[in-house]
Amino acid sequence: MVCVALAAASVVLGVVTGTSRETDAAPTAQPSATASAPPTRPVPTAAPTAVPVASFDRAALSIDDPASLWVVVNKQRSLRPADYSPSDLVTVPVAHTWQPQLRQEASAAAAAMFAAAREEAGLSLASNSAYRGFAAQARVYSALVNAEGVASADQSIARPGNSEHQTGLAIDVGAESGRCSLNPCFADTPEGLWLTQNSVRFGFLLRYPADKVAVTGYEFEPWHFRYIGTDLAVEMRSGGVSTLEEFFGLPPAPGYP
Ligand SMILES: [Zn+2]
Repeated sequence: MVCVALAAASVVLGVVTGTSRETDAAPTAQPSATASAPPTRPVPTAAPTAVPVASFDRAALSIDDPASLWVVVNKQRSLRPADYSPSDLVTVPVAHTWQPQLRQEASAAAAAMFAAAREEAGLSLASNSAYRGFAAQARVYSALVNAEGVASADQSIARPGNSEHQTGLAIDVGAESGRCSLNPCFADTPEGLWLTQNSVRFGFLLRYPADKVAVTGYEFEPWHFRYIGTDLAVEMRSGGVSTLEEFFGLPPAPGYP
């Protein structure tokens, strides 16, 4: 519900820019999902044995460092520092309802994913929200607390310092038509179905699955995608693990401490 409420609350703050869109990507923003080096993997040296040895190093990157592609932030794990801000934010060159920013690598991957949706399936995607800073999140959260109280606000929006959008690695994606934007029915649209199938190829994880509400602390959000890089995204899918909490052996985060 975080995204729906943010959209509503942002209207209060007057930060939504209407329906402006940039349907033509800037020529300088040629997608390059492989621009940054992936996490290193150990090179297998032993001869094959009967029992396959997992080569994926799940400790290759930090899950605590807010600047890590694998950082895990949820209601139990605040970003540290809470007011962390990425240093490499860029404007994502895609159609949008709200000017999107992501970290450089995530932006390139998102642009590549949007281009692939168009080229492979004729689908037009749009970004509904991406990076949101601590101060903006704090304003929206405070406004909701004042209006509805803490309990209600916590049902609707992440507290500042606890939002994945603050990492610059999360993007809310919809159909450019706006159909089912930020709504669970997006899952059944052609765009939602394509993203569910293909986001992993671009290093994005559908972060809040329908069957993991008790683990993630969030209702089903078929529009919220978190960039984690292709290595981890593929590893998780191949292992049938759908949440970062489960993959890294972290406790469920149904609510705040
Ligand atoms: Zn979101």
